[in-house]
Amino acid sequence: MVTDLLKDLIIVGSGPAGASAAKIAANNGLDVLLFDKEEFPRYKQCGGALGARVTNIIPAKDIEELPSVRKTHGLCMISPSQKHVAKFYREGHNGYFVSRIHFDNYLHEKALEAGAVFQQERVLTAKYIDNGIKVKTKNATYNSRLLIIANGFYSRLPAMFNFPQVTDSEYIGLSLNSESPIPEKTLDEYFGEKRLTTIFLGLAKNGYGYVFAMKNRLNIGVGGTQKYVKNIKQLYSDFVKLVKDFYGIKKLSLNKPRGYRSPFYKPMKKAFTDRVMVAGDAAWMINALTGEGVYYALVAGKFAGETAVEAINTNDSSAQFLSKYNERWMESFGHDLNKYASPLRKMFFKSNKRMELAVKMAKADEKMIKTLTETITNSITCEEGYKRILKRAPISFIKGIFS
Ligand SMILES: Cc1cc2nc3c(=O)[nH]c(=O)nc-3n(C[C@H](O)[C@H](O)[C@H](O)COP(=O)(O)OP(=O)(O)OC[C@H]3O[C@@H](n4cnc5c(N)ncnc54)[C@H](O)[C@@H]3O)c2cc1C
Repeated sequence: MVTDLLKDLIIVGSGPAGASAAKIAANNGLDVLLFDKEEFPRYKQCGGALGARVTNIIPAKDIEELPSVRKTHGLCMISPSQKHVAKFYREGHNGYFVSRIHFDNYLHEKALEAGAVFQQERVLTAKYIDNGIKVKTKNATYNSRLLIIANGFYSRLPAMFNFPQVTDSEYIGLSLNSESPIPEKTLDEYFGEKRLTTIFLGLAKNGYGYVFAMKNRLNIGVGGTQKYVKNIKQLYSDFVKLVKDFYGIKKLSLNKPRGYRSPFYKPMKKAFTDRVMVAGDAAWMINALTGEGVYYALVAGKFAGETAVEAINTNDSSAQFLSKYNERWMESFGHDLNKYASPLRKMFFKSNKRMELAVKMAKADEKMIKTLTETITNSITCEEGYKRILKRAPISFIKGIFS
């Protein structure tokens, strides 16, 4: 089947980036066709930690109504030897833990309410045609004037428009996680009513384990970069044992873990070309310190949607016009991730010795653990976190950063 009707905008992927773009574009009158291979609600492999700045994009009230949501109250960092534990409860807003089943379904429904039309199909290819873009699925082809690629890190579509690919295993994150329903009372008992962003350092070179307790679901995961993580299944089962011992949990029924890859580098420098914009994981928009990507996907999706509206209204979908999209996300978070997230990661993840030292240092210095809490929960930018840490850290810690 060929659908010759020329849509204004096709968006591939209805995760945070795609749904956010679809909502803005449809709200502003564009004729939007939104593809996802999955039926919604669907689960996406994720820790489900939403950084504090997510409420710049999504109203806090809406997030707080989601069934699995729980507020984040601060940070707990455990050193590689587990000898040092640095904990900090921070007043005010620090973000949330929420299942992606609920969060993404909320975003998807908002896009449809705005008027985007959903097509549940896997997009196989996309290419230029005279007056726009042709997108192909197993059973049909669809045409549009503009395309937003937002279908995650595994997407093959960027390569079809000559965008670069991440191939170095040092920059590809590999993780295994499970999210399991557990009664709220049990989670309160083990993790406290005030939930913390809990991170176990030193499980693998360049990686960590995390425990995020939502309202009534527990998300446990391990990850590192593909280059250094050799047996992720073993790493995960060792980590579950460690978590049980650490919290004194006798029985823990967890769902089967699933693996996933994600970009652990810097965002693409140029996420646009003629008639095409790339957003979210498909454009590697991930914080290399924390692995957080939802906030950046939402922001990029919003800018891609806004730029699409302007391009259609001015009848200009040239690369030159779409470069506005790049300027917007770069200014909002791109420069910050490019310049400061990787150095922060190096600062902490270089070796187990450094991680041990970092937790010891944070435990002994309230201002330091506060800064780390604010950096990791995305309450402040990476730049601010980096500068504050450099100012505060003892000389012995700073020396190691540059050696
Ligand atoms: C284990 C793990 C833990 C993480 N934890 C966190 C965390 O705690 N906090 C955080 O902020 N980030 C976390 N991230 C990163 C976060 O999941 C991503 O950055 C975020 O999901 C990116 O959103 P997106 O919209 O770009 O892509 P996605 O959320 O991946 O959405 C892409 C969508 O495209 C669809 N799709 C894929 N291919 C096609 C196709 N060919 N045709 C049609 N549809 C298609 C998919 O079904 C999906 O719905 C984690 C990642 C992993 C792997």
